[in-house]
Amino acid sequence: MNDTKTHFGFEEIQEADKVRRVAGVFDSVAQRYDLMNDVMSGGMHRLWKAFTIAKSGVREGSRVLDVAGGTGDLSLAFAKRAGKTGQVWLTDINNAMLTRGRDRLCDKGYLLPVAQCNAEKLPFPDDYFDCCTVAFGLRNMTHKDVALAEMKRILKPGGRLLVLEFSQVWKPLSPAYDFYSFNIIPKIGQLLVNDQDSYRYLAESIRVHPDQETMKSMMEQVGLERVEYFNLTLGVVALHRGFKF
Ligand code: SAM
Repeated sequence: MNDTKTHFGFEEIQEADKVRRVAGVFDSVAQRYDLMNDVMSGGMHRLWKAFTIAKSGVREGSRVLDVAGGTGDLSLAFAKRAGKTGQVWLTDINNAMLTRGRDRLCDKGYLLPVAQCNAEKLPFPDDYFDCCTVAFGLRNMTHKDVALAEMKRILKPGGRLLVLEFSQVWKPLSPAYDFYSFNIIPKIGQLLVNDQDSYRYLAESIRVHPDQETMKSMMEQVGLERVEYFNLTLGVVALHRGFKF
């Protein structure tokens, strides 16, 4: 039996259990995920996503893969940009999140291809997409290096990978940020979703996620080039971008 351990927030668990535990979190929050995002971030997640789109280079005709796309915010924005000649795939490992995403897109008049899949084993050919994004998804993955290598594999030469994720906040802000994350967010989770634990996991998983420089080298290690990052909201979030050549 594989005995390797991994993080689930601050907890150390068997690697084999991580996918199930993460699925439990997103099954529980899927229905009210978008409302929680707006409340927790004071609407700022919209600006972080808008910045990601601005750095994506996606235009009419682009092929885009949204990994861990959840309820589809990025997919929708990309679909508007890529137009009728483009192709935007919404993918996620979690059926509840993906169903919610697909329904939201349909309600807005966009029928996109959708696939339920693990980012560590993407069901797409090599060298296919112009752009691949993963927003607030990577920190939930068991083997981040494998997922990054997969995302690079499916990119065309010249294509870009964008990783939007919580990161290491500017030091002087960290006491206030810690207080907010560990005391306020779980309470909001309890109030709106009736689930403190999932939102405690969220706060913990942010703390154990690699910082900006480590993330940059992880992307370089899978062979991405010209990797750079942009700190957003004083490093609460960072957008990393790398190219495949
Ligand atoms: N990208 C969306 C957004 O920014 O609003 C959703 C982000 S949500 C915080 C994280 C998503 O990652 C969840 O929908 C979850 O199911 C997905 N996820 C977690 N592990 C995954 C994996 N190994 N492969 C694909 N998706 C995964």
